[in-house]
Order: sequence, then C-alpha cells, then structure tokens
Amino acid sequence: MTNHGIGDWIERRRVKSAGRLAVTAGDLELTYGEFGDRINRLANALTDRGVQQGERVAYLGENSVEFLETLFALGSIGAVFVPLNTRLAGPEVTFHLEDSGSKTLIASHTMEPLAVAGVEGTDIERVIFVNDGERVPAENGRLQLSSQQYDDVIASANAERPRVNVALEDLAIILYTSGTTGNPKGAMLSHSNLTWNAINVISDMPITNDEVALMISPMFHVAALGMGVLPTFLKGGQVILEPRFEPGRALELVERHKATFISGVPTTYQMIAEHPAWDTTDISSLKNLTCGGSAVPLRILEAYEDRGLSFTMGYGMTETSPGATTLPARYSCEKMGSAGLPQMHTHIRVADFDGNVLPAREVGEVQIQGPNVIKGYWNREEANRSSFITDDSGTWFRSGDMGYLDEDGFLFISDRLKDMIISGGENIYPAQIEQELAQLESIAAAAVFGVPDEKWGEVGRAAIMVREGHEITEQEVLSYLDGRLARYKIPKSVVFVEDMPRTASGKVRKPQLREMYGD
Ligand code: ATP
Ligand code: MG
Repeated sequence: MTNHGIGDWIERRRVKSAGRLAVTAGDLELTYGEFGDRINRLANALTDRGVQQGERVAYLGENSVEFLETLFALGSIGAVFVPLNTRLAGPEVTFHLEDSGSKTLIASHTMEPLAVAGVEGTDIERVIFVNDGERVPAENGRLQLSSQQYDDVIASANAERPRVNVALEDLAIILYTSGTTGNPKGAMLSHSNLTWNAINVISDMPITNDEVALMISPMFHVAALGMGVLPTFLKGGQVILEPRFEPGRALELVERHKATFISGVPTTYQMIAEHPAWDTTDISSLKNLTCGGSAVPLRILEAYEDRGLSFTMGYGMTETSPGATTLPARYSCEKMGSAGLPQMHTHIRVADFDGNVLPAREVGEVQIQGPNVIKGYWNREEANRSSFITDDSGTWFRSGDMGYLDEDGFLFISDRLKDMIISGGENIYPAQIEQELAQLESIAAAAVFGVPDEKWGEVGRAAIMVREGHEITEQEVLSYLDGRLARYKIPKSVVFVEDMPRTASGKVRKPQLREMYGD
C-alpha cells in the first residue's frame, strides 16, 4: 500500500520531525507528531463511518486546525476534500454540496445556521460539527443531534496510519472557482497538481523549514492553500492560523510569532498598512510576502517598501492550483504592472482563438500548460471541451484572461475576455480604467462595464462607490481620466452605487452589474 499524495506529507514528518511545531491556532500548538497523530485518527474515524476512497467530503469553516486535519486525513484515505466558502448563501452551499455529490459535511459550529440551511434537500448523510456534535439528518430532512463531537470522534479512533493506495494523479480536492463570470465550476485538483504547484513555489521563493507562515487569508481559497500552506508543509515549516482576518491582530501575530511569510491579497495588505499599529509593530521578521488575485495598487507597494519589504506578486487561478506566474520582487519597479514570469515548471503562451501563438506585445488569450494545471472540471462536459486546446505542443488551458508577453517573456494581464468592451472596433480593458480610478481617494470601489450603444456598438460605464465622508461628481470622475487614458477608453457615463455586487470571494460580479445598471 503506497500513498503518493499530499496525505503522506504530514505522516512522514510525524516520524521524522515529531517534535517540531506544525500548527499554531490561538492557544493550541501542535507538533508534527501530534498533528500527524490526529490526522491518522480522523482518517480512521471517517473510514469507520463508511467514507470511501474517491468519495467527496465537504468542509465549511474558517481557518482552523480541523480544516487542515480534514484535508490531510482525506488525502491519507484517498477521499476528496471539498472546501466551501464561509460567505456563501444557503442555496449556494446547497449547490456546492449537490454538485460535488458530497455525503459528509464537516462544519465548524460557528457555521451551524448556514450548514443547516445548506444541507436541506441534499444527499448529505452526516454532518460533523467541530466542537459541537455529529448530526445525522432525520426523516424530515431536519438535522438531529447525535452524541459525538469532533474531538470525541478523533479521541476514540485508531491512531494507526491508514493503509490505502493513493496515486499522484488521484483527485485530492474539488475547489470551486469564484463564480465571477458565471456559476462556479469545480476544479479537479489532483495530488499531482498540488504537489507540483508547491514545488513551483519553493523553487522560486526561499521557503525553508524554519518558515513561520501566517495564514490571514481563508484557506478555502486556493491562494492561501497553494501559495502558503502546502509549500510550508512540504518544507516542514510552521503554519499560524487565524480564523478571521483582522489587521491589528495580524500585526500582533507577526510580532509575537516572528512570522516570516504571509500570502495575501491587495486588500489585506492595504488594511494592514492603514492600521494604527502599523508604525509601532516590529515586522522585521517578515521575508516572504506573496500577493495575488489582482494587481496591487502602487501606493500599497510604496507603504511596504518604506519598511524594507517587497512583494512577490503573482497571477493564477483555481485551475492552476493556483500559481501560473510570479513577479520576482526585484522586478517590481522595472516590470511595473507585470504579472511576472511563468513558475518553474509551468509554461505560458498568448494565442488567438484559433491557437496561433502571437508575437511579443500582441494581446490575446493567456494559455497555460504544466503539471499544476487541472485536467478538467467536475461534471462540466461543456466547459471541459471549451477550456482546453490541444495541438502539437500539447494541451493548453484557456484561462479566459487577455494579456500579452513582453520581449523578455514577462506576462501582462489586460483583463478577462468576458469583461472586455469592444467600442468602435477598439478593445477596451476595464481593469486599466479601474486601476486609474483606484488612485482617487474619494472612490471606495469602481467597476467599469460595457453597455450597448447605437453608434459605437458598446461603450463603457463606470459604477462608483464613494468613500464615506467624501464626495465626487460624474464630471470630476471623467475629467480625472481625461489625459490619463486614451479618449476612446474613457467611460461615457457614471452610475453611483451604494454597494457593489460581489462574489463570496469579494470580486465584483460584472454580469450582475450589467444587469442592474446596464439599462
Ligand atoms: P470564475 O472562473 O468562476 O468566473 P474566477 O475566475 O474569479 O471565477 P478564481 O480562480 O478565483 O475564479 O480567479 C482567477 C482569476 O483571477 C484569473 O483568471 C484572473 O482573471 C484573476 N487574477 C488572478 N491573479 C491576477 C493578477 N495578478 N492580475 C490580474 N488578474 C488576476
Ligand atoms: Mg475563472
């Protein structure tokens, strides 16, 4: 019996580095020995409850030890981890449970109302509440409390290592995309995908076994998992968990644990730099800062630079586990705005829709190849047909993002193909306009989308949320852009909105914006 997957990572260190710290969450500290022991117990407990190899088990909860134990326990019995976003609405939870065909849900007790709403009418056979109890649905579909708690489940189980064959190509996680452009799709991340992504990260960044990685981003996103947790565990470092992001607390933890590594998104870094404790906290232990998901505004880069810190920025997506490119910190000025170079074992090309590779600086679709790229989506035949293109250089994943490579091979992302506006035959990428608007202090959020126009086919419209206590007029917005952008790119109108429709991961839902404000 051999386990080639990530389920074996902690097991190996359980013996090899038993006394080293693996996870810290609040007052709880687990060594690799203790962590590995709990993982084996949970794996056996799930097997005792009938969880089979290949079966999907969903998890709904904030960052916690139990989240990680579930991930690795499922990996050690060849079952599939399905982490859910805690900000989903009840019907969305139902969608994810049904789509993945999960029969078991593990949920933190803080998520109880959402879990209860989400499982109604699904095929879920059991819900294990962390620190609360295990529940099985009664006849009428309502949850009934049984007597066991997560910790009892673990304590009463066998601690022996499960004996299961797991292949590198086996499915490890079904992770849903953010649903920014439509319904979320379940990306099928294999053990191989996750392993290769972690190898990519440690090939490009100086991650060591002394790493202390602070997880301020939720681990149900591929970024925290793939760019932070898994590379740290692959090297045998330590992970510090926080259930929720709070900038003051993040600063406190950096100082207390001498954190060396944070992987976050622009907003979290911005909130940290704007916190009153920013100036008085000792953050000199930090070495590795990764930032992805969208472009980082210049003023945030500068705030960190003033403290001697630079970012390794990156571009990626759920489907690439998630790293596609990284911009080494030393290039952040020289290649300003670039998403960087392909990760070590990953290849990027820019092609037109027939798959013809385009020369440098020509904008086309970004296509990705590598061992970190998924083979497909769970139960999505149509998307699986349209998202991959095969030619004599192999199979490429079509990212749906538009961009170009410069003469040195650095990638620049323009915007999503679906968000591109075609006005009078010119392609307009809203992201560029949004980045300009982000420089204005009186604007809390801006999103540009296309509306039909008789003369131009389509023209841009900016939806703007004004920052509290500030004021700005349509004319002021438009004249700010005048001279900064080519005329044809400047939106023709502005709508002021109270709220931006966003996905559970905080991205603006453009389809909904078009529906609400597109006439
Ligand atoms: P869905 O696929 O369901 O519409 P989504 O694409 O938002 O949702 P994710 O996988 O979370 O789901 O996000 C990946 C996308 O985020 C990329 O395809 C790209 O559009 C955007 N993105 C990621 N990193 C960057 C970056 N550094 N710069 C610009 N855009 C980025
Ligand atoms: Mg996507």
